[in-house]
Amino acid sequence: MADFSKLREDFPLLKSKMHGKPLVYLDSAATAQKPNCVIDAITDFYQNHYGTVHRTIYELSSFATHKYEETRVKVAKFLNAKKNEEIIFTRGTTESINMVAYSFGKAFINPGDEILISEMEHHSNIVPWQILCEDRGAILKVIPMNDLGELKLDEYAKLLNAKTKLVAITHVSNALGTVNPIKEMVKMAHQMGAKFLVDGAQSAPHMKIDVQDLDADFYVFSGHKLYGPTGIGILYGKEDLLNAMPPYQGGGDMIEKVTFEKTTYNTLPLKFEAGTPLIAEVMGLNAAIDYINSIGIEAIYAYEHDLLVHATSQMEQIPEIQMIGKAANKGAILTFITDGIHSLDIATLLDLQGIAIRSGHLCTQPVMRHFGITSTARASFALYNSKDEIDFFISALKNSIQQLK
Ligand code: PMP
Repeated sequence: MADFSKLREDFPLLKSKMHGKPLVYLDSAATAQKPNCVIDAITDFYQNHYGTVHRTIYELSSFATHKYEETRVKVAKFLNAKKNEEIIFTRGTTESINMVAYSFGKAFINPGDEILISEMEHHSNIVPWQILCEDRGAILKVIPMNDLGELKLDEYAKLLNAKTKLVAITHVSNALGTVNPIKEMVKMAHQMGAKFLVDGAQSAPHMKIDVQDLDADFYVFSGHKLYGPTGIGILYGKEDLLNAMPPYQGGGDMIEKVTFEKTTYNTLPLKFEAGTPLIAEVMGLNAAIDYINSIGIEAIYAYEHDLLVHATSQMEQIPEIQMIGKAANKGAILTFITDGIHSLDIATLLDLQGIAIRSGHLCTQPVMRHFGITSTARASFALYNSKDEIDFFISALKNSIQQLK
């Protein structure tokens, strides 16, 4: 069993001070800090092993290719994908969703078809579908949520019909913390013949993911929220679907044969990895997955859930605070507003005490609209946070409210 009180030591930036105060980093839902092993893996690659992948036989390139493909195998195991070829490296969740919108859309979406998203989606899981619908004459429909921040499954059932071609839903809401009943929702979509994309940006770093058990057709996440580097993400897709979809971009390793008359394409996964890929970023992701596996994702979930319960019970006792997102099943995300005080002012005062929280619309303007607000404050937790930090945050929050009232 990992000693969570020691894990903070693995993160060099967490030793720094902000405004002369020890850093309390509570914005991991935006992006997670990096452990030494990830930073070292990237540095080691650039200093000692740097070379391109797949194209040549010299030693540097064969090492890079080996590690690059080893990472794919690790990601496949991490998600319990059936095949390594079902794992595509992308630049992040946003690019993965855009790839599916473009390629799946080109292959399968026709005028009058329907795509279903939800009211709690991140803009990255809204806008690509709007672009697709505009291009193809398809219709975007939205599953509403209740005031706790839970999706209305009865409304979902009513919205699903023979015209629904794809449902794209976040596993865990970055704005509300809600953990959606994805497995049940996938089953309902499949009964109607629709495919299902899971936005796993907020779930992959915090809970065990089994894409075969979920039966998701696509599952996407970003490396930077999983303690890995920026600029690397994953698109998992079922093999038969990926095979039926056209490439997203042209050039590089995605070709089989090029002539001016006609080009044929590579097989999976390289068909979707055009251009020189994100090689150093993949090395960092490799180390990040090793790091998470060395702790155990189930232990991480339990630890963070404990932090959430600890923080929630204290937040609920602050009379000026209103929690946004009170779902029964939540990830370690606390979003709140404060009576008569702008979230930016709260975040600014907390920053002066070394506490980093997010403020604003959280890239979920429709969620803000649902609650009749324009901005919120959000504290989110990761494996390096502690109950002491939460207690410090709560007391700083109470002081800030008194100052701003
Ligand atoms: N979906 C959700 C639920 C997110 O939280 C985020 C990141 N905030 C994204 C999508 C987009 O991820 P990225 O910016 O890494 O592409």
